[in-house]
Amino acid sequence: NQKVVLITGCSSGIGLALAARIAKDEKKRFMVYATMRNVSKAEPLVEAAGRTLGRTLEIKQLDVCDENSIKACVDSLPERRVDILISNAGMGLIGPIECQSIDEMKTVMDTNFFGLVRLLKEILPDMKRRKKGHIVVISSVMGIQGILFNDVYAASKFAVEGFCESLAVQALRFSLNISLIEPGPVITEFERKVYEEGLKIDLSKADKVTADMFTNIYLKNYNQIFETFGQTAEDVAEHTLKIITMENPPFRHQTNTLYTPMTTLKYADPNGDLPIDTFYKMVFEHDKVFNASLNFLKLLRWRSRKSFTLEKDKSN
Ligand code: NAD
Repeated sequence: NQKVVLITGCSSGIGLALAARIAKDEKKRFMVYATMRNVSKAEPLVEAAGRTLGRTLEIKQLDVCDENSIKACVDSLPERRVDILISNAGMGLIGPIECQSIDEMKTVMDTNFFGLVRLLKEILPDMKRRKKGHIVVISSVMGIQGILFNDVYAASKFAVEGFCESLAVQALRFSLNISLIEPGPVITEFERKVYEEGLKIDLSKADKVTADMFTNIYLKNYNQIFETFGQTAEDVAEHTLKIITMENPPFRHQTNTLYTPMTTLKYADPNGDLPIDTFYKMVFEHDKVFNASLNFLKLLRWRSRKSFTLEKDKSN
């Protein structure tokens, strides 16, 4: 009676932590197919999986940008059955749009958005036929709210959210569940890769004010934001495990309680100005406001370490 879980992007970060955590479920409720684009990068997962490898965890090749690889992977599963799909593979992109090529931007959309679309085109029809299945998508708080210099990345996650919100209505008709997991900053390779790429950007195509804003405000504060708000991949995995074991899983779940005051701004003002003004003040009147906010968050973080609990199961 094991549930079949297929996860994408398992060579590092959240995907790796998720695959290992779900495979190690004490009650052995899941059979995990941990997929990655390049299986030669499986070593860290093999290590994390330990004794579950070959038992409740199997590694498979899957590139979310390649329909054939998705089909081949799903075809290789017993009865092509996927009970829980966790769409996790993704990539980031930061910087002024003047300095990014359309091709770079398309790769982000192709991975983060069309990657999910390709998976669902392959897996959703079977789920509908079986009238059973849970689609879990690792989105981001940037699927709710744009962030300075994350324009295209946020757009890719907004696309994911709009796509899922539209599908969710149809899914109900087939008794399927869709859940968006929305982490804030998570300390993974992603964060490091994005930052290192950010340092390499040729800013000569941007005007001085923009280039200065990116280097002296955004990049300068980048690491501090991750240190202050940052969650571990294991933490996100724990939240996701809870979501996939719920009877009535929520459509949206934010994993980082420190970040919720920010996303709440979005819902608090139908005109949409409140979050934009607040971010502006945080960034440009930052000496006082930004430092005060960070200190406040550090305090919250210290307090929440003592009482870090998941929101109550919706079904309770
Ligand atoms: P990561 O870079 O460690 O993991 C991303 C994984 O996706 C990598 O293993 C990478 O190889 C894989 N991937 C990229 N393109 C692929 C493709 N075409 N096919 C298959 N796999 C591919 O970073 P992460 O933080 O673990 O990111 C996982 C997800 O979490 C992403 O969707 C990301 O947008 C989301 N997320 C991350 C953060 C963060 O701060 N790190 C915050 C919110 C959401």
